[in-house]
Amino acid sequence: MATINSNYRKLSAGYLFPEIGRRTREFQKHNPDARLMRLGIGNTTEPLTPTIIEGLYTGAKKLADVKTYTGYGDEQGNTALREALAAFYGARGVSVSPDDIFVSDGAKPDSSNIQSIFGPSDIIAVQDPAYPVYVDSNVIAGRAGQYDQEQSKYTGLVYMDCSEENGFFPDVPDQKVDVLYLCSPNNPTGAVADRRQLKSFVDYARRNKAVIIFDASYSEYISDPDLPRSIYEIEGADECSIEINSFSKFAGFTGVRLGWSIVPGKLTVEDSKPGELRNMWFRRQTTFFNGASNIVQDGGLAVLSPAGLAECQEVISYYMENARIIRSGLQSIGLTVYGGDNAPYLWLKTPGSMTSWEFFDKLLQETWVIGTPGSGFGPGGEGYFRLSAFGHREDIEAAVSQIVTRLQL
Ligand SMILES: *Cc1c(COP(=O)(O)O)cnc(C)c1O
Repeated sequence: MATINSNYRKLSAGYLFPEIGRRTREFQKHNPDARLMRLGIGNTTEPLTPTIIEGLYTGAKKLADVKTYTGYGDEQGNTALREALAAFYGARGVSVSPDDIFVSDGAKPDSSNIQSIFGPSDIIAVQDPAYPVYVDSNVIAGRAGQYDQEQSKYTGLVYMDCSEENGFFPDVPDQKVDVLYLCSPNNPTGAVADRRQLKSFVDYARRNKAVIIFDASYSEYISDPDLPRSIYEIEGADECSIEINSFSKFAGFTGVRLGWSIVPGKLTVEDSKPGELRNMWFRRQTTFFNGASNIVQDGGLAVLSPAGLAECQEVISYYMENARIIRSGLQSIGLTVYGGDNAPYLWLKTPGSMTSWEFFDKLLQETWVIGTPGSGFGPGGEGYFRLSAFGHREDIEAAVSQIVTRLQL
């Protein structure tokens, strides 16, 4: 007799994007002539650059020749790619060993799977609001307790408040937790942790033998040289932190699929020796995963070449100009907007005391623009609204102009 993993029944989500779709279809049915505009997507829109296409093409061509054909690759990922990633960190003054780098098919799979190397009753802390994967993967693993409808929270998780008061980056928990998820630059708030803030978490983790899972998927959107782009810029972080990153937002690989995680040999927890956690992640990946596509890894290598990096920065600048256009438009009509400086997300405070969903409906009805209600990212997102800077310039301009001219405040 088979039974189900009943933890799946505890998932509260599957709600946000389907509900956006439902309300959007409903609106379109009654307003068939309205031209809807999306400022809500967390998905890249601009094409891959020539150097990267050349890299992918080189990878494909190698497979056509018996002398260069390859099947399964190196277990942790193509050695040349891991060395290039180590050099990429090295150029920023961060020392990472290629042996500690694990190439993957993206940051979402890594950030959801990483919890499997920790104890089943470890206490998990998440930022509130947060990218939903950290919560949901721990719900499925049975670490989150029950969902409390009234609080919109899981009883077994520790929520680290991100609010206007703390600049949307949390203080360390005032209780002992075991695994903490941090995302900087942040999706959804666009906030970026500074060195002092990251150091307070590294100090906390070392004091409590806790581990930080640091999602740096938007690190390349940081232009301020004083802001850390890797947690390993903080001394001692390699003893207590795992970093997850991706080519998705960095190089437009959302559909191509390539990422990496760093599990340092020095990392230890309460009951582990140095190297043990890294070996466990190796075991996990070689058991459940057979490596990223060899073609795609050649594409990743091209991203990390000097020409590739320069081209990716141009695309990122394009998105960041979109962010600037959105922000200045919204501010011109008196709205309060956060983020968008070193991250492709803007975090808008809903006007008056509107809920996130009330503002969603108002924006849709008055301006035909679709965004993402902040409350979909956790109770701390209530009263906020996420707008994304991904999109073609003309679409962004059209959406902003609609908001500026039609939103009734
Ligand atoms: C987009 C995003 C990812 C997704 O990464 P993939 O590499 O495409 O799987 C991970 N983390 C955050 C916070 C994201 O916004």
